[in-house]
Amino acid sequence: MADAPLCVEILTIFPGYFDGLLQHGVVARAMERGRVQVKVHDLRRFTHDAHRTVDDRPFGGGEGMVLKPEPLAEAMDALGVAPLDPSRPGSRNSGLTVALMAAQGRPFTQAMARDLAQQQRIVLVCGRYEGVDERFRQMYCDREISIGDYVLSGGELAAAVVADATLRLVPGVLGNAASAAFESFGADDAAIDGSDDGVPRSQHGSGGLLDYPHYTRPAEFRGLRVPETLLGGDHQAVRRWRREQQLATTLRNRPELLEKAELSAEDRRVLAQFQERLRGQQREG
Ligand code: SAH
Repeated sequence: MADAPLCVEILTIFPGYFDGLLQHGVVARAMERGRVQVKVHDLRRFTHDAHRTVDDRPFGGGEGMVLKPEPLAEAMDALGVAPLDPSRPGSRNSGLTVALMAAQGRPFTQAMARDLAQQQRIVLVCGRYEGVDERFRQMYCDREISIGDYVLSGGELAAAVVADATLRLVPGVLGNAASAAFESFGADDAAIDGSDDGVPRSQHGSGGLLDYPHYTRPAEFRGLRVPETLLGGDHQAVRRWRREQQLATTLRNRPELLEKAELSAEDRRVLAQFQERLRGQQREG
């Protein structure tokens, strides 16, 4: 199983939407090297009328159109995806997941991407208009995924997001296997252990903080210098600086993540200082 490349299949009325994902960067290279497969299927292929109709008006009235169940179900038949067994929820063969892109789905997270990267085959279904006929969801979809609390005009961008975040976690896809472990929302220490060569990296030992800022050459750009700590060769000092930056960024942008993060006594001391400084600024402002 470890050697079978992960296959992501996408069902959409706009197959051309995925050209970007398929032609550029990490995903394109992984496909070329046979690490992963991505197949895009045109929903209209599974229609039988001259207009290749995929949508119809909603029962009960109201706005917009709904994706009809027949072409969606026929597409599943053609892909060899069997309906779910209604008497046994979650009964799908292990290794296959059918996910419906939906604003009302579970929020997509790095943990979900890690879970999907363990599958052998993922089918992503892109809704359009007001969404898909509910019976298709019931019959075929193991899960519904939302990429955020906003409404897109279609599931294509969401599917591209899910595919990208998942595929880059497949072993051998990223040039440097450690990169995926050492970034925002990275895996916890246990997953990182064993790869520590002494060079401090993102998320080292941080368990769920946001990433620290990155710098490259030149050391001075339009009058702004790279922080001195990063220019010296003191790995311990670099590590401390990066950890402080992670704490500062997380406090500034996502304070709720701090509640679950594993924090050392030193982290708490640094955070208390930042908070004190913030309160000082608020008093002055
Ligand atoms: N009537 C729906 C919106 C439909 S938008 C509602 O109010 O929730 C059309 C399609 O775009 C959806 O079927 C879904 O596939 C996709 N979509 C919209 N927002 C999304 C989001 N935040 N995450 C994932 N897919 C989304």
